Amino acid sequence: MPVSESMVQEVVQEVLAKMQISDTASGKHGVFADMNDAIAAAKEAEQTVRMLSMDQREKIISNIRKKTHENAEVLARMAVDETGMGNVGDKILKHHLVADKVPGTEDITTEAYSGDRGLTLVEMGPFGVIGAITPCTNPSETVLCNTMGMIAGGNTVVFNPHPQAIKTTIYAINMVNEACLEAGGPDNVACTVEKPTLETSNIMMKHKDIQLLVATGGPGVVTAVLSSGKRAIGAGAGNPPALVDETANVRKAAQDIVNGCVFDNNLPCIAEKEIVAVDSICDELMNYMITEQGCYLASKDEQDKLVATVMDSKGKLNRNCVGRSAKRLLEMIGVTVSDNIRCITFEGPKEHPLITTELMMPILGVVRVKDFEEGVKTSVWLEHGNRHSAHIHSLNVEHITTYAKALDTAILVKNGPSYAALGFGGESICTFTIASRTGEGLTSAKSFTKKRRCVMQDSLCIR
Ligand code: NAD
Repeated sequence: MPVSESMVQEVVQEVLAKMQISDTASGKHGVFADMNDAIAAAKEAEQTVRMLSMDQREKIISNIRKKTHENAEVLARMAVDETGMGNVGDKILKHHLVADKVPGTEDITTEAYSGDRGLTLVEMGPFGVIGAITPCTNPSETVLCNTMGMIAGGNTVVFNPHPQAIKTTIYAINMVNEACLEAGGPDNVACTVEKPTLETSNIMMKHKDIQLLVATGGPGVVTAVLSSGKRAIGAGAGNPPALVDETANVRKAAQDIVNGCVFDNNLPCIAEKEIVAVDSICDELMNYMITEQGCYLASKDEQDKLVATVMDSKGKLNRNCVGRSAKRLLEMIGVTVSDNIRCITFEGPKEHPLITTELMMPILGVVRVKDFEEGVKTSVWLEHGNRHSAHIHSLNVEHITTYAKALDTAILVKNGPSYAALGFGGESICTFTIASRTGEGLTSAKSFTKKRRCVMQDSLCIR
């Protein structure tokens, strides 16, 4: 068979890709060619980690925090270069947030019951080796917050990351292991494979030494771990609406919503994805968004072009558009705007594809509703039953309460940007694994532990 130029090109590309991966992986802690070897190494490390005192675990976590601060910019640049998604400035902030606000061992507490018949302690014990699947939208942030919480709980972890973010993930995993070794802990507290695939994921999900699965990603992966037969934490997709009612401080609402929406080019799953605005304030809100908050008002023709560009005819997202800036998205449809434009807006029905779909792009469609009641119904519809995140701008506590009950989400931010829920300008811990579907909410060390009851009969009650 004659060898064509395209066949040669294909082979060259394949070899180059392999060279690149082994280049990234060579000499890195916690990185293995085979998933079974990665699990075996994490299992060996786990025998040491479960015996570490809380103080020793905390020393390791402190060193991970320190290295995360030091490497925030490197990790941010790597993720943007590798995935093409998000922006470096916000990703740097996200890493500092992880370093500062992901809980450590203080999250591991003990319940105690004492009385005439003795003393019972309910303690949070480790699961063992945890299998974690991570998204390409917050690749290193998820690895870091998962690992810190899992080590605090006495576990080790094997990651099957998104292949599109493998270099960034390997960098973070190597960093975590270096931090652990420097703090006197073992190597391989976090492990991964050089080439993650669905097959390596399946090996991990079925492996006898994996005690708990944690999936952060879209609906497919959450369903996969929940169908595995193992205990699983599922942190899935959202499509958070932001409702603005007639009592809101409309100018501030415009600012908060746009700030939340454009953070890291709308990649966080909790970020505002569409607005539901009561008729009486809708024009005012859009006016502030356009004149003060850098929103570009897209015409009907431009909306159609955006739909055709950001998704295919079946609604599947074009990965080359996810996490891109508003300016870049507009460029893709032939519109040139200044750097001041940070978001795209338009008014449309709730069924509009740019409104009803979780785009992860700085596009904020506005659905006009006649009153608050219709706003609640519309928001519930738009959230698609994910029960993930929703936001409201209102000074009426009855409205806020009604909305909170109706939406029933893991996160509800009132009168602020969505990122306040991650501790960025709000009172909260930080995580990038928000488990709405399985009910843990914002995951932290305690989510990665199991309850263990320790009973002393008839003694040690000293009341
Ligand atoms: P994705 O679902 O494409 O991929 C996530 C991870 O799951 C990747 O590692 C991928 O390789 C793996 N995966 C996908 N399908 C799988 C399957 N059937 N079996 C095994 N593994 C599978 O998501 P993404 O594009 O990387 O991230 C964006 C999505 O993740 C959005 O829907 C977003 O809302 C969601 N997300 C949720 C949270 C949260 O905390 N709830 C956090 C970040 C992202």
